[in-house]
Amino acid sequence: MALDDLAQKKSGWPGSGLAKGLAVTLRTMTRKTHTAQYPDTLPELPPRSRGVIGLFEENCTVCMLCARECPDWCIYIDSHKETVPAATPGGRERSQNVLDRFAIDFALCMYCGICIEVCPFDALFWSPEFEYAETDIRDLTHERDKLREWMWTVPEPPALDPGAEEPKEIAAARKTADKLAAAQAAEAAAAAAPGPSDAPGQPGAPGAPGEGAPS
Ligand code: SF4
Ligand code: SF4
Repeated sequence: MALDDLAQKKSGWPGSGLAKGLAVTLRTMTRKTHTAQYPDTLPELPPRSRGVIGLFEENCTVCMLCARECPDWCIYIDSHKETVPAATPGGRERSQNVLDRFAIDFALCMYCGICIEVCPFDALFWSPEFEYAETDIRDLTHERDKLREWMWTVPEPPALDPGAEEPKEIAAARKTADKLAAAQAAEAAAAAAPGPSDAPGQPGAPGAPGEGAPS
């Protein structure tokens, strides 16, 4: 068979390629599109998306674990020690770390999440926020205040499975709140109860014998 005949057989009848192309176009035109028109349409991200890291600095004890474990060495922490006076007379002074600087360089971060996993005090959280591109790479180092601001974008943790054990922190907080409420209720009950001087028949009480009697 000549080469021309073979090429003719492969391509089919003249114009068949055009018809096939139009058929593909028509078929895909009727299908649902999966292209998101970002930024006009924002994507619906899963709750555990890794966008940016938020710092809840009240929980940070400056233990340095996150900075030591970060594979990229992109967490910068500075601190100093302060002496806290004894809480009771004769007690011992304590020293505590005070955070001076906490920064993460997101130009180096590889979003592995190790810092969040290793933090023993729940001071670091993932936020799904991802719109923080910069034109200057230096602006990708987010300092403590900016990391604190990201905390507002951290979603609530998902609800526990039904029947799951209550987390220890919540159980402890609930126990303390119950104790406080019981103590307040007892105080209120004691204040509402009539005192010994209010009891009828007691000296000083209205209607007590001898009280206000004509001499
Ligand atoms: S996510 Fe990983 S790379 Fe980024 S700061 Fe945390 S430990 Fe470092
Ligand atoms: S591991 Fe947690 S508590 Fe320790 S320095 Fe890092 S953020 Fe602070």
